[in-house]
Amino acid sequence: MEKTEKKAFQTEVSELLHLVIHSLYSKKEVFLRELISNASDAIDRAKFEALTDKTMEPDSEYCIRLTPNRAGGTLTVCDNGIGMTAEEVERNIGTVASSGTRMFLKAIKEKGNAPEMIGQFGVGFYAAFMVADKVEMVTRRRGSDAVSWVSDGNGEYEIGVGDSDSAYGTTIKLHLREGMSEFLDEWRIREIVRRYSDYIAYPIVLVPDPSAEPEKDKDGNEVRKEPVTVNSMKAIWKKSKSEVTGEESDEFYRHIAHDSEAPLATIHFSAEGATEFSAMLFIPSSAPYDMYFSNARTGLQLYARNVLIGDDIKELLPHYLCFVKGVVDSSDLPLNVSREMLQDDAVIHRIRKVLVGKVISCIEDMREKKPEDFARFSREFGRMIKEGVHSDWENTDRLRDLVSFPSTLSDDETRTVSFKEYVSRMPSSQKEIYYISADTFAAAKNSPLLESFAQHGYEVLFFTDPIDEFVAERVNEYDGKKLRAVDRGEINLDAPEGDGKSENEESKKETDEKNARFKPLTDFIAERFKDSLRSVRLSNRLTDSACCLVADEFGYTAHMERFMRSIRQDVPKNLRVLEINPNHPLIQKMLDNVASDPAKSGDWADLLYGQAQLAEGTPVDNPARFNKLVSELMLK
Ligand code: ADP
Ligand code: MG
Repeated sequence: MEKTEKKAFQTEVSELLHLVIHSLYSKKEVFLRELISNASDAIDRAKFEALTDKTMEPDSEYCIRLTPNRAGGTLTVCDNGIGMTAEEVERNIGTVASSGTRMFLKAIKEKGNAPEMIGQFGVGFYAAFMVADKVEMVTRRRGSDAVSWVSDGNGEYEIGVGDSDSAYGTTIKLHLREGMSEFLDEWRIREIVRRYSDYIAYPIVLVPDPSAEPEKDKDGNEVRKEPVTVNSMKAIWKKSKSEVTGEESDEFYRHIAHDSEAPLATIHFSAEGATEFSAMLFIPSSAPYDMYFSNARTGLQLYARNVLIGDDIKELLPHYLCFVKGVVDSSDLPLNVSREMLQDDAVIHRIRKVLVGKVISCIEDMREKKPEDFARFSREFGRMIKEGVHSDWENTDRLRDLVSFPSTLSDDETRTVSFKEYVSRMPSSQKEIYYISADTFAAAKNSPLLESFAQHGYEVLFFTDPIDEFVAERVNEYDGKKLRAVDRGEINLDAPEGDGKSENEESKKETDEKNARFKPLTDFIAERFKDSLRSVRLSNRLTDSACCLVADEFGYTAHMERFMRSIRQDVPKNLRVLEINPNHPLIQKMLDNVASDPAKSGDWADLLYGQAQLAEGTPVDNPARFNKLVSELMLK
């Protein structure tokens, strides 16, 4: 790079800056937290680089310096961290908008003025423009030229070769806006640092205002003020539990999770024995916006002997617990452990096992002692635990007691029931656990498949999330009761053994007779739909509706089939069973007509099948013909 170049911010960054400058007016002090956090990250990386690269001398004086200058109206934040090359400046600040930029804009529009969220979205640097109308940065990566970067936040920035007398590090000078002079006040700066950044592992040094008139002691001699360290620096997770107040750990959580809410639960412990480590983990109060994104910032911070190995170590917890935030610090890991090695590392495996156990215990505890928190947890993260039921074989038995579902007894979908509660309130005649799968709560609630269950007073669980069927697949039975889809296989709630199959002599005779009587109709419909239906039979599960579609014993349910199709193409067509209700007047009438008027019976059969498809949320095969038939029928 030869001289200074003017460049435009990427459009989304510009939009974000506009918002930061014009719309965020409360809690402006968080800009300092964000800049200190970046400085601390940069020092972590410098320290790590020096440890892994033998040719480098580690700096014994890592620190973050804050210098207010009242005469110039500036506050400077300076670190001796990793620094940036010109390319890195372009990539990290200005040109490329991170996915968080758009998310932050959206969140601010939805939640209003909440600047403290800014760090959560990976755009904390821009918080500087809340208080500054010009930001000057000089940064230097070891072995590269220093880079200067200047912007007033209005659409453009200037980048060029900088002037720096240190070998590496970053200096950011904020020209404070009018009315922002509080951030030049030493006491105010101390207060902000203690509040937000006390646990930062490096000294945060307050340098006396170089422009201030020297103070005089009582004899009239000038007193030179010395730089002072304002944070206490002690790694909070290494303190014993009794040494840490709830307020301190909440503040620490806010720092690492960039969250403005307090955590829902905190897990702080040190493990002794085969593997020694300390950990401080948090369950957030709300799911992060990007929990389901593949590039979400998940994982825990891992320290080995006070050196940060990484910020987002995913190997420490299984994917389904990716929402847990926190820090793990182990003295058993070699310092030069590389991220690639973590996957197969025995120490990491042992730590992970302990962490998973602790997190599950914490959630179990919440369920026993804090039902309201547990309800909130289930709303925010219940889906992840369901994933765990399916994927974490070792813990399936504990996890299945932490998931719950709405049911026929729920007024709305937030009222859910666990397997345990469900089984405890089953009437003694009920032998199985029933569930229905549907796309929505309303679709489940209104399904004709539930009619006879309602009549028997049997509760049916609603599986409205595709993951629920994976839970059913893994859980299979609970407390000796089999899980059973109401739309799969044959179900006869009146059978004396209640297992849906055995029937006594008398009712068997009755059933045979009925089947024989309706045979002309079932055969007729079966022949008409021989390519799209597996079979047609009389139903035991309907009372009010004329018909329904069900899966055979081992087939996919309609819901599952739709879900499978949404994720892959090659799902084989799964022929379904049409059940008709012999007690319904329409079916009786069809039976009467089937021999004498095959043309009309054909139309009626098409209507019947179309209705059954609509009821389970499957599009009808030929919508135009279906509509025509309905219209004709209405005219009659
Ligand atoms: P985040 O810190 O969440 O990544 P920021 O907007 O705060 O988001 O910072 C963006 C990026 O700019 C950082 O990830 C880092 O790469 C770079 N950066 C910011 N400040 C510094 C600094 N003091 N030293 C080195 N790099 C920095
Ligand atoms: Mg940051």
